[in-house]
Amino acid sequence: MALANCRKCGKIYRRITVDICPQCQKEEDEELRDAQDYLRSHPRATIYELVDELDIEQPLIGRWVEEGRLTLIKDLEEEASVPRCAGCGREIKEGQTYCRTCLFKKLQSKGPQKNTEPEKEPVHEKPEIQSSGMHYKRHIP
Ligand SMILES: [Zn+2]
Ligand SMILES: [Zn+2]
Repeated sequence: MALANCRKCGKIYRRITVDICPQCQKEEDEELRDAQDYLRSHPRATIYELVDELDIEQPLIGRWVEEGRLTLIKDLEEEASVPRCAGCGREIKEGQTYCRTCLFKKLQSKGPQKNTEPEKEPVHEKPEIQSSGMHYKRHIP
């Protein structure tokens, strides 16, 4: 029987059909069951949600989906077209880079010197000339 290194923990084990040792296989099976349970109560959950909620590695979930052990309603290609937070992978609105949570974290990690700086309020200036002879100001560089 062939010996192999476990893909997960590196332990040498007797390879049967999988590329991880029985110990890690058991852990993975439990994680798979968690993921399946989660999908039952959240049928429209995304792979990112599973990663987030269950703390399971994304490639592992991807493999389960490939192997047909886990069925996600939204497939990965659809996922790729949706803008994602660069920090956690959550769905975000078009044009944004980070979700509110990550944005907040980033602001906090910047330190107090930036945080104390008040945000500049736009000053509403009255037009200088309100008469009919109003000149359009050109933008001077
Ligand atoms: Zn292992
Ligand atoms: Zn995020």
